[in-house]
Amino acid sequence: MNAPASPAQISSATPDPAAGASPVMAQFFEAKARQPDALVFFRMGDFYELFFEDAQKAAAALGITLTARGQFNGQPIPMAGVPVHAAEAYLSKLIRCGFKVAVCEQMEDPAEAKKRGSKSVVRRDVVRIVTPGTLTEDGLLDARGANRLAAIAVRGGAAAVASVEISTGEVECLGTSVGGLASALAALGPSEVLVPDRLFSDETVGAALKAAGGFVQPLPSALAEPSASEARLKRLYGVDTLDGFGQLSGAEVSALGLIAAHLETTQAGKLPALSPPRRAGEADVMAIDPATRASLEIEKTLSGGRDGSLLAAIDRTVTAPGARLLAARLARPLLDPAAIDARLDAVAWFCEHRAQRQRLREQLKGLGDMARALSRLALGRGGPRDLGTLRDGLQASEAIVGLFASTHDPLVEPPAEIASALAALNLDLHADLLAYRDLLASGLGAELPAQARDGGYVAEGVRPELDGARALRDDSRRVVAQLEARLAADSGVALKIRHNAVLGYFVECTAKAAEPMMAPPLNATFIHRQTLANQVRFTTVELAELDAKIAQAAERALAIEIETFEAWRAAAIQVAAGLQAAAEAAARLDVAAGLAEWAEDVGASRPVVDRSTAFEAEQARHPVVEAAVRRAGDAYTPNDCRLDGAGAAGPRLAIVTGPNMAGKSTFLRQNALLAILAQSGCFVPAKALRLGVVDRLFSRVGAGDDLARGRSTFMLEMVETAAILTQATPRSLVILDEIGRGTATYDGLAIAWACAEALHETNRCRGLFATHYHELAVLEDRLAFVANLSLKAKEWNGDLIFLHEAGPGPADRSYGVQVAKLAGVPPQVVARAKDVLERLEREAGAPAHLEDLPLFAAAMASVEEPRGPSPVEDALKALDLDGMSPREAMDALYRLKGLLP
Ligand code: ADP
Ligand code: MG
Repeated sequence: MNAPASPAQISSATPDPAAGASPVMAQFFEAKARQPDALVFFRMGDFYELFFEDAQKAAAALGITLTARGQFNGQPIPMAGVPVHAAEAYLSKLIRCGFKVAVCEQMEDPAEAKKRGSKSVVRRDVVRIVTPGTLTEDGLLDARGANRLAAIAVRGGAAAVASVEISTGEVECLGTSVGGLASALAALGPSEVLVPDRLFSDETVGAALKAAGGFVQPLPSALAEPSASEARLKRLYGVDTLDGFGQLSGAEVSALGLIAAHLETTQAGKLPALSPPRRAGEADVMAIDPATRASLEIEKTLSGGRDGSLLAAIDRTVTAPGARLLAARLARPLLDPAAIDARLDAVAWFCEHRAQRQRLREQLKGLGDMARALSRLALGRGGPRDLGTLRDGLQASEAIVGLFASTHDPLVEPPAEIASALAALNLDLHADLLAYRDLLASGLGAELPAQARDGGYVAEGVRPELDGARALRDDSRRVVAQLEARLAADSGVALKIRHNAVLGYFVECTAKAAEPMMAPPLNATFIHRQTLANQVRFTTVELAELDAKIAQAAERALAIEIETFEAWRAAAIQVAAGLQAAAEAAARLDVAAGLAEWAEDVGASRPVVDRSTAFEAEQARHPVVEAAVRRAGDAYTPNDCRLDGAGAAGPRLAIVTGPNMAGKSTFLRQNALLAILAQSGCFVPAKALRLGVVDRLFSRVGAGDDLARGRSTFMLEMVETAAILTQATPRSLVILDEIGRGTATYDGLAIAWACAEALHETNRCRGLFATHYHELAVLEDRLAFVANLSLKAKEWNGDLIFLHEAGPGPADRSYGVQVAKLAGVPPQVVARAKDVLERLEREAGAPAHLEDLPLFAAAMASVEEPRGPSPVEDALKALDLDGMSPREAMDALYRLKGLLP
């Protein structure tokens, strides 16, 4: 058998691959040449066909049959096809498998092509390239999740991340440093990232891309050139100058330019209705690196699900756009106390105005996804149902505003955040939206099909010509019904008049009944058209005339409907900014009311966020663990936590000890989550929280806890720890959970010790340090702002009871043996372990050698002054911690000391 030809072979064999191909295949080659790295969905009638390697790849990925169509260069052409009506499901699968798909449509009716001559081929063109970041169909999108396309660029040492959510038109831009790319990207969770190919090989960029996930699309670096980017951006927004967007940095322009370039190619010239870029800098949002984000399970759990995440625990929104906005806020907590307070004001107001909140939530439930509907319309992929979403959305907007007006009490003015949302929703303030609402309300019919070409959606009385054409069509249908009765009576044959797309109207009867119709005199009236197994089909002159009339009227009616749809679509784009603002306003109300709902459910309170370095949590709880503990029928123990970066109102660093399972990890994370919630503008599950804004949040878990992820090694743990020690500032919050556990005891202790000292002395950040090295308890006496905390357990009748209560002082012992007993280790083994433990404890004594250790502060003070790297720093840098034995680690510490002047 011949091996199938492939376009690659063909192009290497002949300079023009299309030479010798049939006209249709020549069209395919042309489309494929323009999109070599995408699968081409080539429209042929009711199917999208794939050819050559595309067919082989798609058949394998989709499990569809591989066939062949004709020959090329004497070899069969492999082909696979998917029906157009089911294309979405196949597309979604291919995208998830990492393919790009170029959709090549028929650009005219086959009848149209015929007019140019019997041999002419239907015109086809690529109308869109489907990539993970450019999806707009509801069937391909997660309604409650964002789908962002991001781009990164670096220029003159500064970096930027731009992103667009094509399905809603939201554009964002974040200026950062190369080192900040990982955090910035992770906050967006993009499904596709555009990278100039020059940056692709950069190690830091590569690591950031890997950590952020998503489909990485390298683009020619030339596309990120400043002047080309600027020109493309202006085209994208249809503006003469970018000044209206504020002072964009070179890197920001480049990143946005890459997005513009990608949209131009993938959308084949059709542009979405985009909002101006919303800009943020590093000074605006809390930096949370990918490892911290993952370990705190903010938006998803370590296993990748939404359930069990912080987001899932607090999300009480009732609309998909609201859910997306809440996720976006939680992903990027703010730094400005005033901005945070504005959000908290809204939540607080909805907490106080319960009835108002319930009525609002009822109204919101009926609200569709206006932003996504609008975006589809703008891209020419929308249908009457999307117009329906806009109409219903605008009507709901009015109802929402009405809710607030009717119960309006001048004494309880809603705060600015709510008032501004209501202003955006108030159609009386937006004449254009009001007019558009009226247009759709009176113009759209009750039944709305997905596609404009399905017809029947323009209401009666909107266009007189349409009503006329429809009346003609319907009248003629009535005449057909009369004709059927008359023909049956006259001929004495039991016949029916039916309709299909190929024959139009026809007379049908059984083969037996048809016999007299094919003989005189009836054959003068009935003209034979088709004989099937059991039926015979005829037409008559009268029926053919009626058929033509009906077809014409229907065609005319549909043409008018499509024309009307196009006009309404264009009108939607005219008011796009207003519609987007209304959609966003409704989402903001949904978020604030949803957070109030959650606050009431779980008894959360309003945090106080200021510019101090305080962290004072009173009776706080972990929202996710609490829910789990409660489901199991237990009570959750609230805990206080008091820290102060300045060391005044509390310790800067708390060393947290306690037996396994006592609640150390829960306590640590709970406090980190409080900071995220508070700065995102959410209430917090605590009696009270006072928080000085946290600029960077770090959370690391010792390697042992992370084995489930299968990739966390001790090395990775140390790399991540190093990142904290170099990046944490006095405004940061650091959570270290059993760092150093992944190596031998003395190694681990030495590292834990040194890290704790460095955090306290050099980074001077607020920190919680959970450890099973009880030796670290002595740091309380050695360092000014360190305190011991422990999670209590007690033995009772030989059993161990966890109180989950955090209190001052170190844990007295680790109760490891008791935990082993709880876990069901056989009694003989437990008894033996007790023996061994007693012996070890008797022999060990106090770790005197550690108490002799020179003070870290004294050591560092002399290193701090000269700016360049000191001998100590150099020596520290050169240490291969991972390759050291415990003995070598201690030696190294002494050597470091010896280097001091
Ligand atoms: P550790 O890190 O000390 O080993 P964890 O934080 O993993 O302990 O907690 C172990 C379990 O104890 C949790 O899964 C949870 O079920 C329970 N727990 C933790 N903290 C509390 C608390 N404050 N109140 C009630 N149960 C808790
Ligand atoms: Mg733990």
